[in-house]
Amino acid sequence: MPNIAKVPVSFEFFPPKTPEGAEKLRATRQALYAHTPEFCSVTFGAGGSTQAGTFATVKEILAEGQQGASHFSCVGATRATVREQLAVLRAMGVKRLVALRGDLPSGYGAGGEFQYARDLVAFIRAEAGDAFHIEVAAYPEVHPQARSADADVKAFAAKVQAGADSAITQYFFNTDAYFRFVDEAHAAGVDVPVVPGIMPITSSTQLMRFSDACGAEIPRWIRLRLQGFGDDTASIRSFGLDVVTDLCDQLITAGVPGIHFYTMNQAGATGEIMARLQQRR
Ligand code: FAD
Repeated sequence: MPNIAKVPVSFEFFPPKTPEGAEKLRATRQALYAHTPEFCSVTFGAGGSTQAGTFATVKEILAEGQQGASHFSCVGATRATVREQLAVLRAMGVKRLVALRGDLPSGYGAGGEFQYARDLVAFIRAEAGDAFHIEVAAYPEVHPQARSADADVKAFAAKVQAGADSAITQYFFNTDAYFRFVDEAHAAGVDVPVVPGIMPITSSTQLMRFSDACGAEIPRWIRLRLQGFGDDTASIRSFGLDVVTDLCDQLITAGVPGIHFYTMNQAGATGEIMARLQQRR
């Protein structure tokens, strides 16, 4: 049985908005570094809205001796701005990017010189060669704007063929969707690691809101149990830890190439899931 210590883990954070948030995130990172992540990534607001905060957080992670990865979205961007930002990231010592299209908040016009993440991946490769390890996003339960499930797998394969080294999935609670997606991607010519993205369950309203927006399905049995707990946060937390630890356990036992946690800037749930996985092995 694979040991969690041998399965690479990575942690995702978002840039804090306040000095208090930044301080709390420093403590979160220190707690999670005990699990020796392969890298820690920081999200990037589409349209560059969080760029300064993203880069500042990545800088701190690098200064803490960890591999800091920057998410990078291209919606609304021009070649000139992307070129400039890539130069900044290279100068900072960043070696890994999560290259995305992103979603512009409503009210922004589309604009920009990149249509899909595939175009960004190709541009980064042309501009920077192998300076960056490029991650892309994958959607086992189908991206909400995809024309069809098949078209989405083909779009994913095209972005890998444009030069991505590996992928991280949208979170899911149904392992069959993940394994099916990986098989289909493989059949479409994808031979890079597709790492499952894992969302710890800590709040039922937050999870429902995110899932509706990003097209991740919460299975009926999970949704109903969460609804049944009402605002009993201790029961939600305890149930969430059991469900997500089992999910990770199944994935690791099946031999996934890594686990990427959407930490939501909290060390508690992710750290507890890691500890439980370790105990089971
Ligand atoms: P793409 O791969 O470009 O796909 C977008 C849509 O276009 C899909 O429906 C796809 O099927 C379709 N498509 C692609 N190519 C074609 C084509 N040639 N013809 C027709 N249709 C096509 N968002 C942020 O703003 N900041 C972040 O930091 C961030 N981090 C993320 C990290 C992960 C691991 C994941 C899974 C998502 C993240 N997102 C982030 C969300 C992401 O930006 C959105 O899901 C966005 O809607 C799609 O981005 P993408 O890179 O997957 O797009």
